[in-house]
Amino acid sequence: MSLTSQIKEFALDLGYSKVGIIPADDFQEYIDELTNRSEMYAFYIQSPYRPLNSAKPRSVMPTAKSIITTVYDYSQKEFPKELTDIMGRVYQARAYNAPPEHVNGARTQLMRDFLRKLGCEVGENIILPERLVAAKAGIVDFGRNNFAYAEGIGSFIYLTSFLVDQELEYDSPTVEVGCPKGCSACMKACPTQAIYEPNKLNPSRCIPFNTFFTQDGMAGSYIQPEIREKMGTKVYGCDICQEVCPRNQARIKAKLPEDRFLSKVVEDFSLANMLNMTDEFHATRIQPLMFNYVKERKYLQRNAAIALGNLGDPAFVPDLAVAMENKEELVRSYAAWALGKIGGKQAIQILKENLSKETSAAVKKEIKAALFVS
Ligand code: SF4
Ligand code: SF4
Repeated sequence: MSLTSQIKEFALDLGYSKVGIIPADDFQEYIDELTNRSEMYAFYIQSPYRPLNSAKPRSVMPTAKSIITTVYDYSQKEFPKELTDIMGRVYQARAYNAPPEHVNGARTQLMRDFLRKLGCEVGENIILPERLVAAKAGIVDFGRNNFAYAEGIGSFIYLTSFLVDQELEYDSPTVEVGCPKGCSACMKACPTQAIYEPNKLNPSRCIPFNTFFTQDGMAGSYIQPEIREKMGTKVYGCDICQEVCPRNQARIKAKLPEDRFLSKVVEDFSLANMLNMTDEFHATRIQPLMFNYVKERKYLQRNAAIALGNLGDPAFVPDLAVAMENKEELVRSYAAWALGKIGGKQAIQILKENLSKETSAAVKKEIKAALFVS
Protein backbone atom coordinates (compact mmCIF):
# COMPACT_ATOMS: atom_id res chain seq x y z
CA MET A 1 0.00 0.00 0.00
CA SER A 2 1.34 3.46 -0.88
CA LEU A 3 2.20 5.98 1.83
CA THR A 4 -0.74 8.12 0.67
CA SER A 5 -3.19 5.19 0.96
CA GLN A 6 -1.90 4.25 4.41
CA ILE A 7 -2.38 7.83 5.63
CA LYS A 8 -5.86 8.19 4.17
CA GLU A 9 -7.02 4.84 5.48
CA PHE A 10 -5.72 5.57 8.96
CA ALA A 11 -7.44 8.98 9.02
CA LEU A 12 -10.79 7.42 8.06
CA ASP A 13 -10.29 4.72 10.69
CA LEU A 14 -9.76 7.46 13.27
CA GLY A 15 -13.21 8.86 12.53
CA TYR A 16 -12.43 11.66 10.09
CA SER A 17 -15.10 11.80 7.40
CA LYS A 18 -12.86 13.00 4.60
CA VAL A 19 -9.16 13.33 3.95
CA GLY A 20 -7.29 15.04 1.12
CA ILE A 21 -3.72 16.02 0.31
CA ILE A 22 -2.11 19.01 -1.44
CA PRO A 23 1.45 20.19 -2.02
CA ALA A 24 2.74 22.63 0.62
CA ASP A 25 2.80 25.61 -1.73
CA ASP A 26 2.18 29.23 -0.75
CA PHE A 27 -1.45 30.31 -0.34
CA GLN A 28 -0.98 33.46 -2.37
CA GLU A 29 -4.73 34.16 -2.75
CA TYR A 30 -5.10 34.03 1.03
CA ILE A 31 -2.10 36.33 1.53
CA ASP A 32 -3.57 38.78 -1.02
CA GLU A 33 -6.99 38.73 0.65
CA LEU A 34 -5.60 39.36 4.12
CA THR A 35 -3.21 42.02 2.85
CA ASN A 36 -5.96 43.82 0.92
CA ARG A 37 -8.11 43.89 4.05
CA SER A 38 -5.24 44.36 6.51
CA GLU A 39 -7.09 47.03 8.47
CA MET A 40 -10.08 44.78 9.09
CA TYR A 41 -7.86 41.83 9.95
CA ALA A 42 -5.08 43.64 11.85
CA PHE A 43 -6.11 41.90 15.09
CA TYR A 44 -5.49 38.52 13.43
CA ILE A 45 -2.47 39.38 11.29
CA GLN A 46 -0.65 40.71 14.35
CA SER A 47 -1.83 37.93 16.66
CA PRO A 48 0.49 35.09 17.76
CA TYR A 49 -1.15 32.97 15.00
CA ARG A 50 0.92 34.94 12.42
CA PRO A 51 -1.31 33.79 9.52
CA LEU A 52 0.74 35.57 6.85
CA ASN A 53 3.81 33.55 7.83
CA SER A 54 2.11 30.17 7.87
CA ALA A 55 0.40 30.94 4.54
CA LYS A 56 3.91 30.26 3.21
CA PRO A 57 4.28 26.80 4.74
CA ARG A 58 7.93 26.40 3.78
CA SER A 59 8.83 29.65 5.53
CA VAL A 60 7.73 28.11 8.83
CA MET A 61 8.84 24.55 8.05
CA PRO A 62 11.57 24.52 5.37
CA THR A 63 11.31 20.73 4.84
CA ALA A 64 7.52 20.88 4.19
CA LYS A 65 6.33 19.10 1.05
CA SER A 66 2.67 18.17 1.61
CA ILE A 67 -0.40 19.08 3.63
CA ILE A 68 -2.83 16.38 4.72
CA THR A 69 -6.24 17.83 5.52
CA THR A 70 -9.14 16.19 7.29
CA VAL A 71 -12.84 16.84 7.89
CA TYR A 72 -14.32 15.86 11.24
CA ASP A 73 -18.12 15.83 11.45
CA TYR A 74 -18.85 17.25 14.89
CA SER A 75 -22.64 17.23 14.61
CA GLN A 76 -23.21 13.52 15.10
CA LYS A 77 -25.02 14.00 18.41
CA GLU A 78 -27.82 16.28 19.49
CA PHE A 79 -27.08 19.76 20.82
CA PRO A 80 -29.43 20.89 23.64
CA LYS A 81 -31.42 23.96 22.64
CA GLU A 82 -30.52 25.71 25.92
CA LEU A 83 -26.87 25.58 24.87
CA THR A 84 -27.42 26.28 21.19
CA ASP A 85 -29.17 29.50 22.20
CA ILE A 86 -25.98 30.77 23.81
CA MET A 87 -23.00 29.07 22.17
CA GLY A 88 -21.76 27.68 18.87
CA ARG A 89 -22.06 23.96 18.21
CA VAL A 90 -18.35 23.53 17.50
CA TYR A 91 -17.61 24.53 21.11
CA GLN A 92 -20.33 22.31 22.53
CA ALA A 93 -18.78 19.45 20.57
CA ARG A 94 -15.39 20.14 22.21
CA ALA A 95 -13.98 19.89 18.69
CA TYR A 96 -12.10 23.13 18.14
CA ASN A 97 -8.45 23.18 19.27
CA ALA A 98 -9.16 20.38 21.68
CA PRO A 99 -6.32 19.52 24.07
CA PRO A 100 -5.07 15.90 24.02
CA GLU A 101 -7.12 14.94 27.11
CA HIS A 102 -10.29 15.45 25.02
CA VAL A 103 -11.19 12.79 22.49
CA ASN A 104 -10.92 15.26 19.58
CA GLY A 105 -7.46 16.36 20.70
CA ALA A 106 -6.44 12.74 21.19
CA ARG A 107 -7.52 11.99 17.59
CA THR A 108 -5.24 14.75 16.29
CA GLN A 109 -2.40 13.40 18.41
CA LEU A 110 -2.96 9.83 17.15
CA MET A 111 -2.79 11.11 13.58
CA ARG A 112 0.48 12.93 14.30
CA ASP A 113 1.94 9.85 16.02
CA PHE A 114 0.97 7.67 13.05
CA LEU A 115 2.54 10.07 10.54
CA ARG A 116 5.76 10.09 12.60
CA LYS A 117 5.72 6.29 12.77
CA LEU A 118 5.60 6.31 8.96
CA GLY A 119 8.77 8.42 8.98
CA CYS A 120 7.21 11.86 8.39
CA GLU A 121 8.38 15.03 10.05
CA VAL A 122 5.16 16.79 11.17
CA GLY A 123 4.89 20.56 11.68
CA GLU A 124 3.83 21.73 15.17
CA ASN A 125 1.77 24.80 16.09
CA ILE A 126 1.44 25.96 12.49
CA ILE A 127 -1.90 27.64 11.80
CA LEU A 128 -2.73 27.00 8.14
CA PRO A 129 -5.72 28.53 6.30
CA GLU A 130 -7.74 25.38 6.98
CA ARG A 131 -10.78 26.10 4.79
CA LEU A 132 -8.67 26.94 1.77
CA VAL A 133 -6.41 23.93 2.36
CA ALA A 134 -9.43 21.61 2.46
CA ALA A 135 -10.98 23.19 -0.66
CA LYS A 136 -7.69 22.85 -2.54
CA ALA A 137 -7.70 19.18 -1.55
CA GLY A 138 -11.24 18.74 -2.89
CA ILE A 139 -12.90 17.75 0.39
CA VAL A 140 -15.00 20.92 0.92
CA ASP A 141 -16.37 23.86 -1.00
CA PHE A 142 -17.48 27.26 0.29
CA GLY A 143 -20.76 28.80 1.36
CA ARG A 144 -21.43 32.49 0.84
CA ASN A 145 -21.27 32.74 4.64
CA ASN A 146 -17.53 31.85 4.36
CA PHE A 147 -17.93 28.47 6.02
CA ALA A 148 -16.56 25.30 4.46
CA TYR A 149 -19.13 22.68 3.45
CA ALA A 150 -18.47 18.96 3.12
CA GLU A 151 -20.71 16.97 0.84
CA GLY A 152 -23.21 14.83 2.74
CA ILE A 153 -22.51 16.67 6.01
CA GLY A 154 -22.81 20.47 5.73
CA SER A 155 -20.81 23.11 7.54
CA PHE A 156 -20.82 21.68 11.06
CA ILE A 157 -17.37 20.30 10.47
CA TYR A 158 -13.98 20.81 11.99
CA LEU A 159 -10.91 20.92 9.74
CA THR A 160 -7.45 19.84 10.83
CA SER A 161 -4.38 19.73 8.65
CA PHE A 162 -0.93 18.23 9.06
CA LEU A 163 2.15 19.66 7.40
CA VAL A 164 4.64 16.90 6.52
CA ASP A 165 8.00 16.55 4.78
CA GLN A 166 7.00 13.73 2.38
CA GLU A 167 5.94 13.91 -1.26
CA LEU A 168 2.48 12.31 -1.51
CA GLU A 169 -0.22 11.81 -4.17
CA TYR A 170 -2.25 15.01 -4.52
CA ASP A 171 -6.00 15.60 -4.89
CA SER A 172 -7.91 17.96 -7.16
CA PRO A 173 -9.28 21.25 -5.87
CA THR A 174 -12.92 22.30 -5.33
CA VAL A 175 -12.26 25.95 -4.55
CA GLU A 176 -15.72 27.16 -5.44
CA VAL A 177 -18.97 28.33 -3.91
CA GLY A 178 -21.42 25.43 -3.82
CA CYS A 179 -24.55 27.39 -2.83
CA PRO A 180 -27.85 27.28 -4.70
CA LYS A 181 -28.23 30.12 -7.19
CA GLY A 182 -29.80 33.23 -5.71
CA CYS A 183 -29.62 32.14 -2.06
CA SER A 184 -28.56 34.79 0.43
CA ALA A 185 -30.34 33.48 3.53
CA CYS A 186 -27.16 33.69 5.61
CA MET A 187 -26.55 37.33 4.74
CA LYS A 188 -30.14 38.28 5.51
CA ALA A 189 -30.18 36.38 8.81
CA CYS A 190 -26.93 37.79 10.20
CA PRO A 191 -28.02 40.11 13.04
CA THR A 192 -25.02 42.44 12.65
CA GLN A 193 -24.76 42.49 8.83
CA ALA A 194 -21.23 41.14 9.25
CA ILE A 195 -21.35 39.44 5.82
CA TYR A 196 -21.31 42.64 3.78
CA GLU A 197 -21.16 40.83 0.44
CA PRO A 198 -20.99 37.15 -0.51
CA ASN A 199 -17.84 35.61 1.00
CA LYS A 200 -16.77 38.89 2.61
CA LEU A 201 -16.94 39.19 6.37
CA ASN A 202 -16.23 42.20 8.53
CA PRO A 203 -14.83 40.39 11.59
CA SER A 204 -15.38 43.27 14.01
CA ARG A 205 -19.14 43.01 13.39
CA CYS A 206 -19.23 39.23 13.69
CA ILE A 207 -20.64 37.98 17.01
CA PRO A 208 -18.01 35.25 17.61
CA PHE A 209 -15.27 37.91 17.28
CA ASN A 210 -17.09 40.05 19.85
CA THR A 211 -17.59 37.16 22.25
CA PHE A 212 -13.95 36.11 22.36
CA PHE A 213 -11.49 38.39 20.56
CA THR A 214 -12.60 41.38 22.64
CA GLN A 215 -10.11 40.83 25.41
CA ASP A 216 -7.39 43.11 26.73
CA GLY A 217 -4.19 42.31 24.87
CA MET A 218 -6.23 41.34 21.77
CA ALA A 219 -8.83 43.69 20.25
CA GLY A 220 -9.58 45.45 23.58
CA SER A 221 -12.45 44.48 25.86
CA TYR A 222 -14.94 47.17 24.79
CA ILE A 223 -17.94 46.04 22.74
CA GLN A 224 -19.82 48.75 20.85
CA PRO A 225 -23.36 49.27 22.21
CA GLU A 226 -24.78 48.77 18.70
CA ILE A 227 -23.18 45.31 18.53
CA ARG A 228 -24.16 44.43 22.13
CA GLU A 229 -27.82 44.93 21.18
CA LYS A 230 -27.46 42.53 18.27
CA MET A 231 -25.60 39.79 20.12
CA GLY A 232 -28.90 38.49 21.50
CA THR A 233 -28.16 35.69 23.97
CA LYS A 234 -24.91 34.55 22.37
CA VAL A 235 -22.03 34.33 24.82
CA TYR A 236 -19.61 32.17 22.86
CA GLY A 237 -19.75 31.95 19.09
CA CYS A 238 -22.81 32.18 16.83
CA ASP A 239 -24.30 29.69 14.38
CA ILE A 240 -27.12 31.82 12.95
CA CYS A 241 -25.73 32.03 9.39
CA GLN A 242 -25.25 28.25 9.40
CA GLU A 243 -28.60 27.45 11.01
CA VAL A 244 -30.59 29.19 8.28
CA CYS A 245 -28.58 27.58 5.50
CA PRO A 246 -30.46 25.14 3.28
CA ARG A 247 -27.26 23.13 2.99
CA ASN A 248 -27.44 22.34 6.72
CA GLN A 249 -31.13 21.56 7.04
CA ALA A 250 -30.82 17.78 6.65
CA ARG A 251 -28.47 17.63 9.62
CA ILE A 252 -30.34 20.19 11.71
CA LYS A 253 -33.62 18.31 11.26
CA ALA A 254 -32.10 14.85 11.74
CA LYS A 255 -32.94 12.95 14.92
CA LEU A 256 -29.50 12.55 16.48
CA PRO A 257 -28.52 10.52 19.54
CA GLU A 258 -28.28 12.31 22.87
CA ASP A 259 -24.90 13.70 23.94
CA ARG A 260 -24.93 12.57 27.56
CA PHE A 261 -22.14 14.94 28.55
CA LEU A 262 -24.08 17.95 27.26
CA SER A 263 -27.31 16.71 28.86
CA LYS A 264 -25.48 16.66 32.19
CA VAL A 265 -23.75 20.03 31.75
CA VAL A 266 -26.87 21.85 30.62
CA GLU A 267 -28.52 21.26 34.02
CA ASP A 268 -26.58 24.08 35.65
CA PHE A 269 -25.21 25.93 32.64
CA SER A 270 -27.29 29.11 32.58
CA LEU A 271 -26.71 32.80 31.89
CA ALA A 272 -27.41 33.75 35.52
CA ASN A 273 -24.95 31.11 36.76
CA MET A 274 -22.32 32.36 34.31
CA LEU A 275 -22.84 35.98 35.27
CA ASN A 276 -21.93 35.50 38.91
CA MET A 277 -19.78 32.40 38.60
CA THR A 278 -17.05 31.51 41.03
CA ASP A 279 -13.60 30.29 39.98
CA GLU A 280 -14.75 26.77 40.76
CA PHE A 281 -17.84 27.02 38.54
CA HIS A 282 -15.70 28.46 35.77
CA ALA A 283 -13.17 25.64 36.07
CA THR A 284 -15.61 22.77 36.41
CA ARG A 285 -18.63 23.79 34.29
CA ILE A 286 -17.50 26.41 31.79
CA GLN A 287 -13.95 25.54 30.85
CA PRO A 288 -14.75 21.95 29.81
CA LEU A 289 -16.78 23.51 26.97
CA MET A 290 -15.25 26.94 26.48
CA PHE A 291 -11.58 25.99 26.56
CA ASN A 292 -10.59 27.70 23.34
CA TYR A 293 -10.16 31.41 23.50
CA VAL A 294 -11.28 32.92 26.78
CA LYS A 295 -9.11 32.13 29.77
CA GLU A 296 -10.33 34.80 32.21
CA ARG A 297 -13.86 34.43 33.44
CA LYS A 298 -14.56 38.18 33.49
CA TYR A 299 -15.00 38.20 29.68
CA LEU A 300 -17.60 35.45 29.84
CA GLN A 301 -19.33 37.25 32.71
CA ARG A 302 -19.43 40.37 30.52
CA ASN A 303 -20.97 38.32 27.70
CA ALA A 304 -23.53 36.80 30.07
CA ALA A 305 -24.48 40.31 31.25
CA ILE A 306 -25.03 41.42 27.65
CA ALA A 307 -27.15 38.32 26.97
CA LEU A 308 -29.28 38.96 30.07
CA GLY A 309 -29.75 42.59 29.03
CA ASN A 310 -30.93 41.45 25.63
CA LEU A 311 -33.28 38.89 27.20
CA GLY A 312 -34.91 41.83 28.93
CA ASP A 313 -36.44 39.73 31.69
CA PRO A 314 -36.82 41.65 35.00
CA ALA A 315 -36.48 38.32 36.84
CA PHE A 316 -32.72 38.67 36.32
CA VAL A 317 -32.42 42.13 37.90
CA PRO A 318 -31.35 40.65 41.28
CA ASP A 319 -28.57 38.65 39.52
CA LEU A 320 -27.39 41.83 37.80
CA ALA A 321 -27.50 43.66 41.16
CA VAL A 322 -25.06 41.04 42.49
CA ALA A 323 -22.87 41.55 39.39
CA MET A 324 -22.77 45.29 40.19
CA GLU A 325 -20.76 44.29 43.29
CA ASN A 326 -18.21 42.32 41.23
CA LYS A 327 -14.58 43.33 41.76
CA GLU A 328 -14.01 43.57 37.99
CA GLU A 329 -14.85 46.92 36.39
CA LEU A 330 -15.67 45.10 33.17
CA VAL A 331 -18.39 43.01 34.80
CA ARG A 332 -19.89 46.01 36.63
CA SER A 333 -19.89 48.06 33.41
CA TYR A 334 -21.80 45.50 31.38
CA ALA A 335 -24.13 44.63 34.25
CA ALA A 336 -25.03 48.35 34.29
CA TRP A 337 -25.68 48.24 30.54
CA ALA A 338 -27.92 45.19 31.02
CA LEU A 339 -29.88 46.86 33.83
CA GLY A 340 -30.43 49.84 31.55
CA LYS A 341 -31.72 47.53 28.81
CA ILE A 342 -34.12 45.78 31.15
CA GLY A 343 -35.24 49.05 32.73
CA GLY A 344 -38.04 49.40 35.28
CA LYS A 345 -38.15 50.81 38.80
CA GLN A 346 -35.97 48.18 40.48
CA ALA A 347 -33.23 48.32 37.81
CA ILE A 348 -33.14 52.15 37.94
CA GLN A 349 -32.93 52.10 41.73
CA ILE A 350 -29.96 49.71 41.63
CA LEU A 351 -28.19 51.83 39.01
CA LYS A 352 -28.67 55.01 41.10
CA GLU A 353 -27.39 53.35 44.27
CA ASN A 354 -24.33 52.08 42.46
CA LEU A 355 -23.62 55.41 40.79
CA SER A 356 -23.29 57.06 44.20
CA LYS A 357 -20.71 54.57 45.45
CA GLU A 358 -18.89 53.65 42.21
CA THR A 359 -15.24 54.77 42.04
CA SER A 360 -14.36 53.72 38.48
CA ALA A 361 -14.84 56.41 35.80
CA ALA A 362 -15.48 53.75 33.14
CA VAL A 363 -18.23 52.07 35.17
CA LYS A 364 -19.77 55.43 36.09
CA LYS A 365 -19.97 56.26 32.39
CA GLU A 366 -21.83 53.01 31.69
CA ILE A 367 -24.19 53.58 34.62
CA LYS A 368 -25.00 57.10 33.42
CA ALA A 369 -25.62 55.85 29.89
CA ALA A 370 -27.84 53.08 31.30
CA LEU A 371 -29.85 55.56 33.38
CA PHE A 372 -30.24 57.72 30.29
CA VAL A 373 -31.82 54.92 28.22
CA SER A 374 -33.88 53.26 30.99
S1 SF4 B 1 -21.42 34.01 12.82
FE1 SF4 B 1 -23.25 35.20 13.43
S2 SF4 B 1 -22.56 37.33 13.44
FE2 SF4 B 1 -21.01 36.16 12.30
S3 SF4 B 1 -21.60 36.30 10.15
FE3 SF4 B 1 -22.59 34.46 10.96
S4 SF4 B 1 -24.63 35.14 11.67
FE4 SF4 B 1 -23.35 36.95 11.39
S1 SF4 C 1 -27.56 30.37 3.33
FE1 SF4 C 1 -27.58 30.15 1.10
S2 SF4 C 1 -25.98 31.57 0.39
FE2 SF4 C 1 -25.66 31.26 2.58
S3 SF4 C 1 -24.17 29.64 2.69
FE3 SF4 C 1 -26.17 28.69 2.82
S4 SF4 C 1 -26.73 28.14 0.73
FE4 SF4 C 1 -25.03 29.57 0.64
